[in-house]
Amino acid sequence: AKSEDRGEVRVFDVAMADSAQMRRDLELELRQALVRSEFELHYQPLVEIDTKRIVAAEALIRWRHPERGLVPPATFIPLAEEVGLIVPIGDWVVRQACADATRWPDHIVVAVNVSSLQMRRKGFAELVLRTLSVTGLPPERLELELTESALLEDDDTTLRNLAGLREAGVRFAIDDFGTGYASLSYLRRFPIDKIKIDRSFVTDAETSADALAIIRAVAGLGTSLGMTTVVEGVETEQQLDLARGEGVDQVQGYLISRPVPEDGFSSLVSKDPG
Ligand code: C2E
Ligand code: CA
Ligand code: CA
Ligand code: CA
Repeated sequence: AKSEDRGEVRVFDVAMADSAQMRRDLELELRQALVRSEFELHYQPLVEIDTKRIVAAEALIRWRHPERGLVPPATFIPLAEEVGLIVPIGDWVVRQACADATRWPDHIVVAVNVSSLQMRRKGFAELVLRTLSVTGLPPERLELELTESALLEDDDTTLRNLAGLREAGVRFAIDDFGTGYASLSYLRRFPIDKIKIDRSFVTDAETSADALAIIRAVAGLGTSLGMTTVVEGVETEQQLDLARGEGVDQVQGYLISRPVPEDGFSSLVSKDPG
C-alpha cells in the first residue's frame, strides 16, 4: 500500500486495539498527545479546474508520535470519536487551521473536517466564531466539511450551529458524497456550499459506467443547486480530464499534491499562478 507521508509507521490501529485494555491505553495516549502538542496538521490543495489555481486547502490531522512516527488519522480518529476525544481534538484543529490560514494569500480557503459530535454540541458555533475573531481569519475563508451522517439526523443543536456559522459567512461542504445514506433531501434542507464526491467514484469511473454516471449526476445536481462540486482522490491526468468533462469545479488528489506540512503548503501557494 502507498504510504501517504514519508516516515509513517502503522504499528497499531483501532482494529488491533480490540481488547478493552488496549483501547484504554490508546485513549490515555491520545489525551497525553493533546497536552503534549503531538498533533499536527498537513494541508492538501484543492485546485479549480478552469483556472488551475489553488483555491483551498484541506487540513488533515496527523499524530507525531515520539516512538511510532507519523500516525495517520484512520488509526486514532475512530477511537477519538467513540470516546468523545474528537471534541477537544477537533477544537484544536479549528484553532490551528485558522491560525495557519492567516499566513496564506487572502483568496485561499481552509477546509476543516468536523465530526458530527462537534456539531451536536451547544456553543460550537460560538467557539468557531471566537476562534475566527481571535485569529483574524474572515469567516468566508473557513469551510467546514461534514459527512452525510452528520446531516442525516435532524439534531436541533446541529441545525442551530449550522445556521449560526452560515449566517456569519462560514461555508459548508458535504464530504465523501455518495458513500453515506442515499437521501438527497438534505441538499435542499441544509445550506450547503460544496459537494465533495468520494474518491471511490473517480477510482472506479474509468472501468465502471455506474461510477461515471454517478459523478455525472452529482456534478449536474450540484451545479443546478448552485453548489461547488469537487472530485476527491484524483491521481491521474485521465481522472482530471474526466472530472473536467463532467463539469466538476475543483479537484483534490495526489496528482496535484499529497497532504504536506504547513511550510510545504505555503511554498506550493507561493509558486501558484494565482
Ligand atoms: P477525508 O476527509 O475524506 O480526507 C481525504 C483523505 O484522502 C485524506 O486521508 C487524504 O490524504 C486522502 N487522499 C487525498 N487525495 C488522495 C488520492 O489521490 N489518493 C488516495 N489514495 N488518497 C487521497 P487522511 O489524511 O489519511 O485522512 C483520512 C480521514 O481521516 C479523512 O478523510 C477524515 O475523515 C479523517 N480526518 C482527517 N483529519 C481530520 C480531522 O482533523 N478531524 C476529523 N474529524 N477527521 C479527520
Ligand atoms: Ca474531508
Ligand atoms: Ca472525503
Ligand atoms: Ca461546474
